Amino acid sequence: MAESSRPNWARRVQATTLSLARRHLDALVVSNPTNVRYLTGFTGSTAWLFVAPTGSRLLTDGRYAAVVRHGINTGELLAMELDIVESGYDRALADVVSRVSAKRVGFEAGTLTVSGLRRWQELTPGVDWQPTDDLVENLRLIKDDAELAALRRAGRMLAQVATGLAGIVGYGRTERDIARAIDAALEGVGFERPAFETIVASGPNSAYPHARPTDRRLATGDLVVLDFGGVLDGYCVDLTRMAAVGSIDSAARSLFDAVYEAQRAALAAVRVGVTSSDVDRAARSWLENRGLGPAFCHGTGHGLGLEVHEAPRISRAESGQVTTLAPGMVFTIEPGAYLEGTGGVRLEDDVLVTTDGCEVLTTCPSGLMVV
Ligand code: ZN
Ligand code: ZN
Repeated sequence: MAESSRPNWARRVQATTLSLARRHLDALVVSNPTNVRYLTGFTGSTAWLFVAPTGSRLLTDGRYAAVVRHGINTGELLAMELDIVESGYDRALADVVSRVSAKRVGFEAGTLTVSGLRRWQELTPGVDWQPTDDLVENLRLIKDDAELAALRRAGRMLAQVATGLAGIVGYGRTERDIARAIDAALEGVGFERPAFETIVASGPNSAYPHARPTDRRLATGDLVVLDFGGVLDGYCVDLTRMAAVGSIDSAARSLFDAVYEAQRAALAAVRVGVTSSDVDRAARSWLENRGLGPAFCHGTGHGLGLEVHEAPRISRAESGQVTTLAPGMVFTIEPGAYLEGTGGVRLEDDVLVTTDGCEVLTTCPSGLMVV
């Protein structure tokens, strides 16, 4: 990774310690692996990060010792102390807590199990363990410069794959063949891996939003949903385009047109200060006004970052997950409508909220591709 795009780990940890101070916590144990990666750059499967104003310590086992030491020395990882775990993570954590005399310590309630907490409490008498929710996730909501560089580059690469779909999708090919060809194209443009199992859903299968590719061959009159994503430097992007095989009937055509306009409406609604549910409403009311409310059976979008589904959720107010949009948030806009007998349509792009509106990261034609 080039020096200029290297994440500023220290700044992320500093933001975390500021949140700790506001909550009157002496320290935080980060056990969610994605959050550990976000704060330190560590990408192994097992490590806990102990964050305190006096410094951060990574607890991991001997498998990772050499690579972590190297990463700390070269600046690829956060400058932190390393504790090699020999006889169990819980005991190693208890040692750290007692060594720094932390009394009120936060844990990630979304990750630690009840039995895990019980063990920590038994091993650390006198320590007041406090649940925290979304402490690091709230920092991850606003992408910093290194993250935006990765997401912008990934968005351009994904658009490039989408532009090549016409050479992949064709009459007589099976959904599975097409999915494999899309995965090869993702690798071909430089993605580490697909962000999720590529969806190719044709004809009747297109009416199921999360259909998995089958051996069905594309036939004349099919609508085809093509939903795929890639991971670059750990960051996920996600896109959906639609194809039609030969000529489609007027019901399928109007379904496409309605979703196309719903997506335009949602994209136009994205700006600083509106809520995620306002953006959902823009797409949903367009479809409801055309009698397609019940056919739109999912949210309008989801946040993107180190995870392919993260905050913010772009969904109805009733979902209880309403976020006020701010510069630096990155998420998908992907309304859809699914009708048994006609088929399904979804269109998806990735956007960044900017001070003066929104920047589409996956710029490429989104019209119906006739193959
Ligand atoms: Zn998708
Ligand atoms: Zn998506």
